[in-house]
Order: sequence, then C-alpha cells, then structure tokens
Amino acid sequence: MSTHRFAAMQELFNRDPIIVPPPAEKVSDFYGINTFDLETMKKYLPTDAYQSVKKAIDTWGYIDRKVADSVASAMKAWAMERGVTHYTHWFHPLNGTTAEKHDAFFEPMSDGKVFEHFSGKNLIQQEPDASSLPSGGIRNTFEARGYSAWDPSSSAFIVDKTLCIPTVFISYTGEALDYKTPLLKSLYALDKAAVKVCQFFDKDVTKVISNLGWEQEYFLVDEALYYARPDLILTDRTLMGHASAKDQQLEDHYFGSIPERVIAYMKDFENECYKLGIPLRTRHNEVAPNQYECAPVYEEANIAVDHNQLLMDVMKRVARHHKFRALLHEKPYSGVNGSGKHNNWSLLTSTGVNLLAPGNTPKSNLQFLTFLINTMKAVNDRADLLRASISSAGNEHRLGANEAPPAIISVFLGVQISKALDDIEAKVSSKKMTPDEKTELKLNIGKIPKILLDNTDRNRTSPFAFTGNRFEFRAVGSAMNCAAPMTVLNSAVARQLQIFKADVDELIKSGIKKDEAIFQILRNYIIESKKVRFEGNGYSEEWTKEAKKRGLTNIVDAPESLKAYIAKDSVELLEGLGVLSKRELEARYEIRLETFTKKIQIEARVLGDLAVNHIIPTVIKYQNRLIENVKGLKDILPSSEFGDAASYQLNAIKRISKHKALIQEMVDEMVDERKVANKLDDVRKKASAYSKKVKPYLEDIRYHIDKLELIVDDDLWPLPKYRELLYAR
Ligand code: ADP
Ligand code: MG
Repeated sequence: MSTHRFAAMQELFNRDPIIVPPPAEKVSDFYGINTFDLETMKKYLPTDAYQSVKKAIDTWGYIDRKVADSVASAMKAWAMERGVTHYTHWFHPLNGTTAEKHDAFFEPMSDGKVFEHFSGKNLIQQEPDASSLPSGGIRNTFEARGYSAWDPSSSAFIVDKTLCIPTVFISYTGEALDYKTPLLKSLYALDKAAVKVCQFFDKDVTKVISNLGWEQEYFLVDEALYYARPDLILTDRTLMGHASAKDQQLEDHYFGSIPERVIAYMKDFENECYKLGIPLRTRHNEVAPNQYECAPVYEEANIAVDHNQLLMDVMKRVARHHKFRALLHEKPYSGVNGSGKHNNWSLLTSTGVNLLAPGNTPKSNLQFLTFLINTMKAVNDRADLLRASISSAGNEHRLGANEAPPAIISVFLGVQISKALDDIEAKVSSKKMTPDEKTELKLNIGKIPKILLDNTDRNRTSPFAFTGNRFEFRAVGSAMNCAAPMTVLNSAVARQLQIFKADVDELIKSGIKKDEAIFQILRNYIIESKKVRFEGNGYSEEWTKEAKKRGLTNIVDAPESLKAYIAKDSVELLEGLGVLSKRELEARYEIRLETFTKKIQIEARVLGDLAVNHIIPTVIKYQNRLIENVKGLKDILPSSEFGDAASYQLNAIKRISKHKALIQEMVDEMVDERKVANKLDDVRKKASAYSKKVKPYLEDIRYHIDKLELIVDDDLWPLPKYRELLYAR
C-alpha cells in the first residue's frame, strides 16, 4: 500500500529541522581529501613512478606494469590510512548510471589468516561479470564478460569505505561498452587535429584539451510526499497532477532566496563534493518552484564527466539524509520548466590560450575566429548526430515541446561575432586581396572586444550558443551522462579541423599566403553554414517555420532522431576518427532504443495501475457520496426544489462517469497497444510502436485524471497534488 497523501502531509508537518553543523575547517582544508589526486600521488609514489604516470596522462601514453604496481601499493597505503576496506573499478555503463562491484582488499593465506593485498594487476584490469549490463548484442552470452581498465587521468576516490578507481569498460573483443571509452578517444582525436591547426598561429602549442563546465538542474521533493507518489518512485516523474494555481508565472523563484531546508541540503552535498575534489561553485533557485541548479568551475572534459556522474550520485545520497529526494528527470512536472544540463565547452592550448576567447590582437582573433567558425561548421554539418546524442524518453519532454531548447539544432553567435563573420563574408573573395583590404579586415577583426556585449544579454532559447569565451550546449538532458554529447561534439569538431587544415594547406600549395588562405576557407565555411545560424527566439513558432524553409531537421520523436547514430556519414565520422566502430554505433543505437521502449513501458504500466487502482476507486467513492446526497435530498425536499438543490451533484456525477468511462476505455486500449508492441522483435519497430501508439495514451489518460482531480473532494484525493509537491520545502 502506498502512503496516503494526508499521512504524508502529516509527516511533513511533524518533521524536525535537519541541522547540519558547518565543517570546522575552511573548504581549502578538506578539498579533495578523498581523492588520490596527482598531489597525493606525488607524496606517496617514488619520483620516477610519479613522473611516468604524469607523462602517460599528458601524452595519452601507457603505464607499464611495474609503475602500476607502485601506484597500486601507494593507493592501498593511502586508502588504508583512511579506513578503506574494499576497492572497486568504477565505470559508466550504457544504462546511463555508474557501476561498481566491490572487492575486499584482503586475501586469504594458507594458515587461515588474511592479509591486505592490492596489486598493479588489480588496479589495471578487472573482469566484473557484468553480463546484465546493456551491450546491444556485442557480448555473446557465452562470453558475457566485460573488462574494466584503469583510466589514470581521472583520480581514484573514496566513497564510504571503498576505493573507487575510474575505468573504461570494454568487451572481450575490445568493443566499448561504456561512455568513457569513446569520450577519451574523441578527446584524443580533437587534441591531434586542433594542435595541427594551432600550428598555423603558434608553433609552441603541443596539446589542446577540451574543457567542460556543466550546469546541473534538478528538483527537490519532500520524501514523505515522494513515497505517496508511486509514479515518482518508479518513473522519476509525475504521470498525473493538475497544474497548481500558482507555479512559475510570477517568476518569483528564479534566483530567489533559497529556502532554509534546501540550503542545508545544498551545503551538505557541496561539502561531500569538495572532499571528492568536485569544484562546485554556483548554486541558485531555478525557474520552477522547488527547482534548483548547481555548477562547478569547468574542468578537463573527461574529469568533468566523471565528476558529473559522481555528483548525481552524491546528490541523491545526501538528499535522503535531508528527507528529500533529488529528481534528476528532465520533466518531473508537466506545465512547469523541465531540467537540463547545460554543457559549457571550450578548447585550451598547452600554452594557456582559450581558443574560443577573443584576444587582443588581429592574429589571436584570427585564431579565435578559426576555432569559432570551425565549431559552427561542425555543428551545421553534424546537427542530426548532435541531436541524436541528447535523445531520450525524458529529454523528449523538453526538446520541441514548446519549452527549453527546441529539437532544431541552431547556433547563436551574438551581434558582434555575427558582424565579424558578415565582414569576412563581404570583404574576402577568391580574388587576391589588396594590401589595403587586408589591413582593413585585420583591423576590424582586431576590434572584436575581449568582453563581448552579448555575454550578458544572452539568448537563452538557443540550443547551442556562443557565450563570450565558450559554446554552451543547452539541449543536454539533466539526467544524462554528458559523455555522449561531448563525444559527438569533440568528434565533429576534430573532423572539421582536419578538413580545415587540408583545405588551407591546399590553397597555400597553390601559392596563396597563409593568412589569406585561412580567410578564404573561413569565408567558404561561413557561407556553407549560414542555415544553422539563428539569433532570434528559438521557442517561437516562426522559427519552426523558418527552420523548415532552411532545411534544418526538426525531429521531436526520440527513436526517430536516434537513427542518426547509424547514418552513413555518422559512421564515417566516428569510425574514421577511431572513436566508435560501426558495430559499436549499432549497439549504442539499439541500447538507446531499448531504453526508450522500457521507459515508456514502465510509465504506461504505472499509469494504468494508478488509474485503475487509485483514481477510479477514489472517484467511485466520491460519486457514491454524491449519490447518497442526491437520494437524501430527494427524500426530504419537495420535487419543485429538488432540481435546484441537486443540480451540482447530478452534474458532477455525470462528469465523473464520463471521465471514468474514458479512462477505463483508454487504459484498456493502451494495454492492447502494449501487447501488440511487445510482440515486435525488431527493436526499431518496437520503439516506434511505443512512441507512436503507446505514448500518446499517457497524455490522453492523464488529461481525464487531471479533470477529475478538480471535481473530487480534496479529502479523498490519494496522491499529493502539484501545489504540495512543488511548494513543500
Ligand atoms: P550561466 O548560468 O550564467 O550560464 P553558470 O555560472 O551557472 O553560468 O555556469 C557556467 C559554467 O560555465 C560553469 O561551469 C563555468 O565554469 C563554465 N565555464 C566558464 N568559462 C568556461 C570556459 N572557458 N570553458 C568551459 N566552461 C566554462
Ligand atoms: Mg547557470
């Protein structure tokens, strides 16, 4: 039996405030104490071993077994001083969560005693028998093993009393079964391609890293109310609930003062994050009631992705201590804003230059424009794949649903950058420029100010916006692993930079000077990617029309958009860069379709149960009360007065019957559609059936339940209402 709404409210009112004593020390005193970071490694490792690890990280190199033994023994010593008893390889399987399988440090000895043991072998590789994790058919059932292998670039960390070692997760035959493997490969490809382009401007650049600063949006809901909502428990979102009379229309929540109970929770999880070296810096209220955001200082993308996965885990864990539940779903409540995970992305050279920040000189600005324009071109050419990378059942409620970013991928640049691009387009041509023209163009480029005007006045409706010194990919879903979109973005830009390098080299070979060749190629790209540039309101109806005219794709349906994963040019791109093979892409496509299907299947089952076993019995109870009342009125009133006295009740009885009948009918139809869909063997057809035939019932049934919520006596309604879920804090 689930908790009734009133019992939940009672519990909420009796709740003692949760007081978290502030840490005695300042953050810098305990920051990173639970991570085996480079600094700690330096303390615990012999110098040459430390140097080898450092070098391997900087150069994408391997670590030999002897060094690994050294690291393992240092890690063990460090961890055991902290009371750690177990270790685990920690990885990002394709179900979107993180996986761990703990093993104790101790090994038995022949005399029946045990000793603590952890070798380089344990560190480097494990074979978790993770045969139940999704593989998209890559692993044969007879060889169901997957291997996890140490990623030395991301620090090991302690959670509770377990040492967690970030790893990649691959199959027996070497295929990636996780998010980290292709991400690392894309970062490698981007590094190599970007360094070559940087050489046009600065010979000293030896490495380019990609930085990621995510912003994580989430909702909080009180634990007691959560337990009274089976839909929240099982699907992470509400499948019914009439809109609250007041929600976000007064715009009084965004950046408002953070409720006391919430801030106690935030401080608590932030401190946990600091111990793990996650540099959380920003916290604020978001637009919807009970919606919040946190963001760290950006980090190297692989680390940032690990930290985001870890953060989501910490947030959920700490929320329980505060009698909250953290909802990471993209759309927990209909009618109010959903949650995203903005991915702020930039490129940094080994010489310390942010390639996406305007500089002080025409030369540095030409380099800046080169990277900016190539990124824009990459997004233009790979829009469908980028769109696919952020597709999920949850994110479908945001993208294209008249909210948050639309399902159309476009790029916002701002007035000043747009002007600079228009200038290049107008002034450059394949004709040789006169020295005067060249000087003028360079002068104009030199005028791009370091701090851009539109940095503050940003277009929040664009899915991919330039924000002064980085691009912000806003369409990523709040519950997702950022690795998938970052892998696609890095790969798209890497390939684009390779093409750019080849294009410029060819012009140089034909006798055109380097700067002029760069200008000419950039001009071509500006012209070729015009259709992706959009400065207006991305939520507007006009944009949908305009985008269609421009030939931009607008696929709202998630299974449909996922097809881009296996499109010919996607395979060419990702296979060509060595990021993902065709087989791996097919596997990913299949897994994402299956996940979509299962999510809708679960939602449909939960809704059917709630409708039939919670809502219909409740409305019958209320209807019976009305019937009793009508009968009573008939008994005591003269027939001339009865009509007036019973009119409201009679009307309500009829309306209840009407909605109830429709709900029953549609639940039956939905079950039938599920049966049909379940018989389909082809994963694509099945996902499509779930999307097109089953999913619409979720909205239709809900509509009638929400109407009933407005009719039925508040005393009887079993599920916490939106006003309670959104305002209990
Ligand atoms: P806003 O909500 O105004 O976009 P936030 O402060 O919430 O900004 O988050 C901005 C995120 O962008 C932070 O994670 C920040 O570290 C990150 N960021 C800032 N500069 C860069 C950069 N050059 N590259 C990548 N991320 C960046
Ligand atoms: Mg923000």
